Amino acid sequence: MFQNVLGFHLQFLTNIPKIGGRLGANVPRSRSKLAWSTARKLDGQGMKIGIVGLGLIGGSLGLDLRSLGHRVLGVSRQERTCDIAVARGAADEAVTDLALLADTDAIFICTPLAYVQTTVAQLIPHISLTTIVTDVGSVKAAIVRDITPLWRNFVGGHPMAGTAESGIEAAQHGLFAGNPYVLTPTEATPLDAIALVESIIRPLQVRLYHCQPDEHDRAVAWISHLPVMVSASLITACLSDADPASLKLAQLLASSGFRDTSRVGGGNPELGLMMARYNREEVLRSLRVYRETLDRMIHTIDQQDWTTLEETLQQTQAARTRFVD
Ligand code: NAP
Repeated sequence: MFQNVLGFHLQFLTNIPKIGGRLGANVPRSRSKLAWSTARKLDGQGMKIGIVGLGLIGGSLGLDLRSLGHRVLGVSRQERTCDIAVARGAADEAVTDLALLADTDAIFICTPLAYVQTTVAQLIPHISLTTIVTDVGSVKAAIVRDITPLWRNFVGGHPMAGTAESGIEAAQHGLFAGNPYVLTPTEATPLDAIALVESIIRPLQVRLYHCQPDEHDRAVAWISHLPVMVSASLITACLSDADPASLKLAQLLASSGFRDTSRVGGGNPELGLMMARYNREEVLRSLRVYRETLDRMIHTIDQQDWTTLEETLQQTQAARTRFVD
């Protein structure tokens, strides 16, 4: 009953669907003592927002958040990146020193996954207890498990948007609009922290969802991490043609079909590496199922079982719209 009441409250507050089987389990149980200070900011306007890691995602967030009237303070590893971020309008100020973020309302950690935990640990001496920290990492269970003990006001997050490019030069306005943005709060996450993060990201015109970190990792293994590995394998397989003339002709004839299917395998290598390292079990599970599916496809074609192949392709044609338009 208690969880239902809070669940209703959260639903009312955020108007977001919850996904996954254990809906009550990820509803925070207690309101933070920070309720008053954050409640004043829940109109989502004019906050001081920090972004650490000014690359594709951090830079794109900065561009959109500044357009929405927030003051964006950026921190990145390289001075050159900071200068480009300011020149491109992705940050009002940007430096390599985390001390810049001392007085921020919320901070988005947008570094590669391997640096999220150390970045939060390095931030702690600089920020006040009221600062809300969120991340954009493509894997959630490991991140949430490692950061929750470090920072109470932490909300795991993952915008489901990207391009094949990386770095501040690739940052673009409107990258998140129309795409899912999933938050992965735990029972311990203060309601105020979730509400504040939502008030910042909802104006980006995203489709907001909540789920548990492990549910997130299993789901994105299917629709994001497996496709990267499959697409990378496709490029590798095409390159393995031993006949140089055939390979050259394939390269000349490659067009829209290959462009679509090779896009994620031809993207930022660090991203794919981190997906596999931090979501290893789920990536392996999905890859093994994929291998079995591929084996069945090979068998069907080898047997010239065109009826089965046609049925399979009819099913996949119809099923694709259950994932994307
Ligand atoms: P990216 O374009 O390579 O940007 C990451 C930036 O982080 C780099 O430009 C680098 O800046 C900076 N950085 C690296 N180590 C740092 C450190 N220790 N301290 C401060 N800054 C550091 O990568 P991205 O695609 O934006 O990915 C960033 C995060 O978003 C990852 O966690 C990823 O899982 C997540 N994500 C990515 C996508 C996608 O499709 N790309 C989608 C959703 C979520 P310098 O130039 O200063 O070295």
